[in-house]
Amino acid sequence: MKSFHKELWFEVPTRRAFINITPQVEKCLSESGIKEGLLLCNAMHITASVFINDDESGLHHDYDVWLEKLAPHEPVSQYRHNGYEDNADAHLKRQVMGREVVVAVTEGKLHFGTWEQIFYGEFDGRRRKRVLVKIIGE
Ligand code: ZN
Repeated sequence: MKSFHKELWFEVPTRRAFINITPQVEKCLSESGIKEGLLLCNAMHITASVFINDDESGLHHDYDVWLEKLAPHEPVSQYRHNGYEDNADAHLKRQVMGREVVVAVTEGKLHFGTWEQIFYGEFDGRRRKRVLVKIIGE
């Protein structure tokens, strides 16, 4: 069995953003040479997510509005976690949007369902953060 891993770095200039990272993940798969197997992609920070959904700007706006309703950033004093930081909302948003995705690799390609793309969800940006891509197979 072959194994491959790579870390992708992101520095988002805003507090929150959704970035389609499918091209970078596909590049990892191509570099790995693996044709059949499984690909794991996870955020390596507890205030960021990796998830799969549609690359549609209206939906991304809807996510942002929905997450702000669930866990508003302001007022930061509403959260106990914010004794040392102001990112409690980012931890909660990450929990909802998830840590990782697993995608089947078939014939050297990501075996997506219709419209599926991989996104990095940033909820406490303006600093360098990592995403891990791990691929196992043959
Ligand atoms: Zn925190």
